[in-house]
Amino acid sequence: MQRLLYTERAVDRLGVWTHYRTCNLCEAMCGLEIRLDGETIQSIRGDREDPFSRGHICPKALALEDLHNDSDRLKHPMRKTGSGWERISWDQAFSEVAERLRSIQNQYGRSAVGMYLGNPNVHNLGSMLVLSSLVKAIRTENLFTATSVDQLPHHFAARHMFGHYFLLPIPDIDRTDFFLILGANPVASNGSLMTAPGVTQRLRDIRARGGKIVLIDPRRTETAAEADAHHFIRPGHDVLLLLALLETILREGLARPGRLAEFCTDFSELDSLVEGYAPERVAPRVGIDAVEITAMAREFAGAKRAVCYGRMGLSTQAFGGICQWLINVLNIVTGNLDRAGGAMFTRPALDIVTKERVREFGRWHSRVRGLPEFGGELPSAALAEEILTPGDGRIRAMITVAGNPVLSTPNGGRLDRAFSELDFAVAVDIYINETTRHADIILPPTTGLECDHYDVIFHTLAIRNTAKFSPALFEGAEDSRHDWQIYRELARRLASDEHPFDEHHPLNQATPAQMIDFGLRAGPYGKDGLSLDKLRETPHGIDLGALEPCLPDRLFTGDGLIRIAPVELTRDLERVRGLLEGTGGNGSLSLGDLTLVGRRHLRSNNSWMHNSERLVKGRELCTLMIHTRDARARGIADGQKVTVASRVGRIELEAAVSENIMPGVVSIPHGWGHDREGVGLSVATTHAGASINDLTDEALLDRLTGNAAFNGVPVSVEAIAAGAAIDATE
Ligand code: SF4
Repeated sequence: MQRLLYTERAVDRLGVWTHYRTCNLCEAMCGLEIRLDGETIQSIRGDREDPFSRGHICPKALALEDLHNDSDRLKHPMRKTGSGWERISWDQAFSEVAERLRSIQNQYGRSAVGMYLGNPNVHNLGSMLVLSSLVKAIRTENLFTATSVDQLPHHFAARHMFGHYFLLPIPDIDRTDFFLILGANPVASNGSLMTAPGVTQRLRDIRARGGKIVLIDPRRTETAAEADAHHFIRPGHDVLLLLALLETILREGLARPGRLAEFCTDFSELDSLVEGYAPERVAPRVGIDAVEITAMAREFAGAKRAVCYGRMGLSTQAFGGICQWLINVLNIVTGNLDRAGGAMFTRPALDIVTKERVREFGRWHSRVRGLPEFGGELPSAALAEEILTPGDGRIRAMITVAGNPVLSTPNGGRLDRAFSELDFAVAVDIYINETTRHADIILPPTTGLECDHYDVIFHTLAIRNTAKFSPALFEGAEDSRHDWQIYRELARRLASDEHPFDEHHPLNQATPAQMIDFGLRAGPYGKDGLSLDKLRETPHGIDLGALEPCLPDRLFTGDGLIRIAPVELTRDLERVRGLLEGTGGNGSLSLGDLTLVGRRHLRSNNSWMHNSERLVKGRELCTLMIHTRDARARGIADGQKVTVASRVGRIELEAAVSENIMPGVVSIPHGWGHDREGVGLSVATTHAGASINDLTDEALLDRLTGNAAFNGVPVSVEAIAAGAAIDATE
């Protein structure tokens, strides 16, 4: 029997009542209306009264119920035994974990314990507010997170241009007239670093008001169907297109920065930086006609309100950092930064863009490859080698929190082997997955409907200022713990005389809800009475208005100026020159005649959502998309099994032959590959798929920022004759 926690309810005459909350499964922050009969969920629908999402949801929202009822979900601490797993008490688990971690740190140094923090942490209130206490207690330089397999280039560019890594420009798509999208598929993702629930309708609204959408992507995606124009582009070459757009705008005198020119440094340097990147020069390399590039530049510069936006296809490639810089520059020179319909900054009710959170870069480097840290994190592409390479400073133990790096980081097969060589591993996780199967102890927190929720991060990345608090609906299982209780208890037990844990510090006593209340009262709307009580009284959420211009006041550069050409970014142009001249530059390892890119599906997010039958059933999602011409040349038919091989591994999966992908490019979605021994996911293992990250290469990364380059991996593809299947882990 589920135990209800949420008791403020109005029951109708049939005994049905309604709970309102925000879906925390992806970035879109959709409002949910959950109807219950007593303690049983009857339906999950979009909340039409949510002022932001206006009734929109996607199929994944229903997985919240599946997640809640999932019999594979762990609810109590588990310890690995010789023959499987055994339940142990929380006290036993905390003691053993603290003792083993302390012992390893005492023997080998504090960085002998590494940490990997996965993507779901940014969707969990407890992690957002309290996980840092555990990170501080571990004090390791070997901290890795999903940031460096996803969005580090955005933070890098923001840090060096605007002074704060989280001062990220958000496309104001509700007011723009020209939306230029590179390497993003918002119709499938529902927006990323651009929280925009119901984004498809918002895109249609752009066109309905006479605006235009142009998409640049090596796939003709779901978003292409909503665009006025779509252009294929060679993966990893977006930087050349962006430079050509900028070159055209500057050369033709189309730059109109307006008031931005008053607080931009080095504007005059731009002409020389883009010299040599005329459309005619870059066209053969990017695969888009020079006439089209020139027209695109003129149209973008001439639009009344325009915004350029690039996401995963740009962030997770060899030139991620410089691409995000150029996107910001393009928005600035056309006057579209910090104005309605352009790229704007949020003013969230709980503001995390503060001077206390300014992040530094390059204070230390990874031991083996010398890759730089950013904000205390090392690139995740370096994790396996830091475990496997002998010598002082080697990682001997790992803590993973809501992460599955074996499936989500490059060369996951190697990382899988690395985890099996650790002296000790502990996971804070709800599942025995491809990574946590290597753990000695798993500490499972409550999840989803059992937790209070407030989107600390995604209100900061949203296309509109809103605020909403979602109370927990159900109590956790008996003797369960919230994530924040687990972090705090571990931090307490890991304390020493030298690094004590202050039990009486308010931050070590408050619940996440109390911390939210404090943040709201101290935030920009606190003086107007915004508090947790106020949000509890408005279960659909509060609209705080459209994004508003805020520069130069919101800059963190010290002198109140935007660095339009920071040397930390422009120095990478030398590498770009190599790309243009075909002499390398992207570090590609030429071991295949096709180029691999990722893709996103509406019914899948990351690996952890594949245990919901309703999301994985039906048509196979994990396929190799390949162009008709390339398939024909290899004798591959639609639906046929193929092997895909890269420098680091090979996998087997079904081919999906299509005209919707650029010739020479193939695509595989991420998060699959669940058929490994010991995984405790009964649904996912029957819809296992294959892991793209058994092909992606830890040697391929954006050398500027350290972000993994999942897009642009050279691969070869061959048809498998019937009866000749390979071992996927070979
Ligand atoms: S789009 Fe994202 S937030 Fe909205 S319902 Fe789907 S998973 Fe939830």
